[in-house]
Amino acid sequence: MRLLTANEDWGQFPPSYYAASAGQAVERAPLMGEIRADVCIVGGGFTGLSAALRLAELGYGVALLEAHRVGWGASGRNGGQLGSGQRREQSELEAAHGMNLAKDLWAIAESSKRLVKDLIARHDIDCGLKPGIIHANHRARYDAEAQELVAHMAQHYDYPLRYLPPDELRGFVNSPRYSAGVLDMDSAHLHPLKFARGLARAAQAAGVRIFEMSEVQKIEPGDPAVVSSKTGRVTADAVVLGCNGYLDGLSMPVARHVMPINNFIIATEPLEAAQAEAILSQDYAVADSKFVVNYFRLSEDKRLLFGGRESYGYRYPRDIKSFVRKAMVDIFPQTENLKIDYGWGGTLAITMNRMPYLHRPAGNIYNASGYSGHGVGMATMSGRIVADAIDGRPQEFETMSKVSGSAFPGGSKLRQPILVAAMLWYSLMDRI
Ligand SMILES: Cc1cc2nc3c(=O)[nH]c(=O)nc-3n(C[C@H](O)[C@H](O)[C@H](O)COP(=O)(O)OP(=O)(O)OC[C@H]3O[C@@H](n4cnc5c(N)ncnc54)[C@H](O)[C@@H]3O)c2cc1C
Repeated sequence: MRLLTANEDWGQFPPSYYAASAGQAVERAPLMGEIRADVCIVGGGFTGLSAALRLAELGYGVALLEAHRVGWGASGRNGGQLGSGQRREQSELEAAHGMNLAKDLWAIAESSKRLVKDLIARHDIDCGLKPGIIHANHRARYDAEAQELVAHMAQHYDYPLRYLPPDELRGFVNSPRYSAGVLDMDSAHLHPLKFARGLARAAQAAGVRIFEMSEVQKIEPGDPAVVSSKTGRVTADAVVLGCNGYLDGLSMPVARHVMPINNFIIATEPLEAAQAEAILSQDYAVADSKFVVNYFRLSEDKRLLFGGRESYGYRYPRDIKSFVRKAMVDIFPQTENLKIDYGWGGTLAITMNRMPYLHRPAGNIYNASGYSGHGVGMATMSGRIVADAIDGRPQEFETMSKVSGSAFPGGSKLRQPILVAAMLWYSLMDRI
């Protein structure tokens, strides 16, 4: 079984609210025959598209090969939350790597938010960008930590967060399940598939040749490297791997460091204004403090988009709507009778230390992946960081490489069962 075809046929988008609301997809032809490029990019998600756009703007001849369609992967299916910072808290990064490196990582993460907002503005990408993410505590014992976080970020990073005591949080997020929270107004949320398609449009306008339905089957390292699909070959001076959770065995050195896991989202029917307000009073996105995070927000047409629950392995659960609905009704009992119009899954990649894996498996082959559920900003940024490294400015690539974690234990056979056991343990902890 293969991740690229385990749950959808070639070229088919999942049955998502995003695919239904993003308009007609532009379909691009597959690669046929032999071509030459300065850089060949594998994968048409945020990583690959952002790298392609940047390289083309820097004057490189770029060919991008996507196995399905642009935005088909996690980039076109996710929660749309453009969060601050790295996947790990700054205090954890300071303890693990020292204040200086932690500050560099924060600066890169801040640039990622700016980059996404700039790209949307510069290329006129209509993707419903809206400010504000709330982090909601599912345990009152986390409230003191939330206050410390707000103070710490103000003192050391001059970053404004607002502590929301339980009463105030309830005014924003009408759930009996949460205590206090933190509001981050520089974070944002967007329609991810529209953003991915907008990036592709911009990249193509800058000269990138995008080939869809062009699964890369083999990469022969060398100078130049040769990248082959079923129907064509690209000879290129450098190769960028932007396959994230869908990498499978294309590069075993990378596969040992990233683990695919599946995550799921449902979309309710459109809500009346009063119904929507009785769930979320403002148009902010929310992510909670559970290990298997629940995240939700309202769509542009006022549906509740609710994400959460995970699975490990190739196939998604048969009934995604019921699978996720259980978590939604637990958080918002008032949604009990709402109709669920869409339910879909996506595969992301996590790493051992939950930091992205930016690495060169060979001299002129670059990988960026493993965003661990925090890729709207960091995948877009990592594409740009890889492009800059190819262009002879590797500083940020080196900074990110320093914190790229170790390989998963257990080799290719045992890592999945070990991960499943660990994840089940943590999700049990969420419940008790
Ligand atoms: C359900 C879900 C919710 C999420 N929510 C959030 C969120 O709210 N905020 C956040 O920051 N992050 C979130 N994420 C994570 C985020 O979506 C990802 O980190 C990000 O999209 C990764 O982008 P990417 O371009 O690296 O990978 P992808 O978007 O997965 O793109 C990889 C592409 O590579 C292609 N590919 C793979 N192998 C080959 C090959 N051999 N040849 C050619 N092409 C190939 C695939 O077809 C795919 O299109 C979520 C992920 C999921 C699944």
